[in-house]
Amino acid sequence: MHKLGPLVADMYVMQLVGNQMLKYRDTMNEEVQRGKFKTLNLMHHFTSGLKSLFSQTTYDGIELIRINCGGAGYSAWSYLPALYDKYSPVPVYEGDNTVMAQQTLSYIEKKIVKIQKGVPAKGIFAYLNNIERLCTEVNQGLTIENFTDIKFLQKALSVRAAFMVRDVLTKLKDKSIKKKIKVNDLYAQDLLLMSKFHHTYMSLTIFHLSATNSVIKDPKIAEHLELLGKIYALKQLQLDSGILYETGFFKNGARHLIGEAMQKCLLQLRPQIISLVELETDELYDQSYLSAIGNKYGDIYERQLELARGSRLNHPNVPEWWQKEVKPLMGTYKL
Ligand SMILES: Cc1cc2nc3c(=O)[nH]c(=O)nc-3n(C[C@H](O)[C@H](O)[C@H](O)COP(=O)(O)OP(=O)(O)OC[C@H]3O[C@@H](n4cnc5c(N)ncnc54)[C@H](O)[C@@H]3O)c2cc1C
Repeated sequence: MHKLGPLVADMYVMQLVGNQMLKYRDTMNEEVQRGKFKTLNLMHHFTSGLKSLFSQTTYDGIELIRINCGGAGYSAWSYLPALYDKYSPVPVYEGDNTVMAQQTLSYIEKKIVKIQKGVPAKGIFAYLNNIERLCTEVNQGLTIENFTDIKFLQKALSVRAAFMVRDVLTKLKDKSIKKKIKVNDLYAQDLLLMSKFHHTYMSLTIFHLSATNSVIKDPKIAEHLELLGKIYALKQLQLDSGILYETGFFKNGARHLIGEAMQKCLLQLRPQIISLVELETDELYDQSYLSAIGNKYGDIYERQLELARGSRLNHPNVPEWWQKEVKPLMGTYKL
């Protein structure tokens, strides 16, 4: 649960954010038809940055699942080695993830220039208006309630992103060094971290907006989605919250509270986990996934036996000469 629960949260965030990207794409296509290209910039910002972030998460996630299935995950019958193999070029093709992450900078720079001219950033980018305030915000008392509050978690991720945006933009101000050298050599790692933190915060924000403003009528589903959003954010804070101690947003004890909050959220998630991850299965779907360990009934061993029996390797046309000439030889060698 500790390993795979957060992965389920990642999956839901990526799915809902992906849906929002499709809406942006439709808007962009409509605008292009009318000879307008304003949304192109926004699309470039998100498609490059999110490609980098999401494909890495998925790639790492497939491997985590494979390892967590023990020996069964190593078996070709699980389909996991094939899935890993098929997915492995994604972080590279359509733009290598490092190069894609670097693309985040230009849109943020444009936004900051506008803000400095008195035009505030709107909507999900509004955090860029308050970079200085976010970087100096100090929490007096941190409690478990804070860490299980989606608004607080969103704030924490926005502080992390704001800090890196400020850091990178300050470093790029040095006119004595060529921008190419600054971006590709000197501050390349800072730039990647900025991209990651910015798009992670953006993803949580888009996910939360989609989950609350969406057409989902059932309040229970909205509750589950909020829970997944919290787990997504807590995982991020578990992975990297060093900056939040540096800014003073976190203080001694925060790490323990993050762990406690994650534990609490995962316990809440546990009874829902099967419904949240279950494939829309019927036997046809099981066949198309060709996985002995991820089918509708969870009957791993029966399914493996069934697949092995049906394998063409077990229905060979053994030529006569094999039995007569080769098989006797095999007994004479000790391997
Ligand atoms: C299976 C597969 C299918 C493909 N299909 C197609 C296709 O159909 N059509 C097509 O046009 N192309 C295709 N490609 C090519 C693919 O798009 C490129 O391989 C990809 O964009 C990476 O570019 P590259 O190979 O030049 O690697 P490079 O960009 O040279 O990357 C090599 C390494 O250098 C690093 N690197 C690169 N630039 C920087 C930088 N500025 N700072 C720091 N590190 C950097 C990268 O992170 C990477 O680790 C395919 C590739 C694969 C693997």
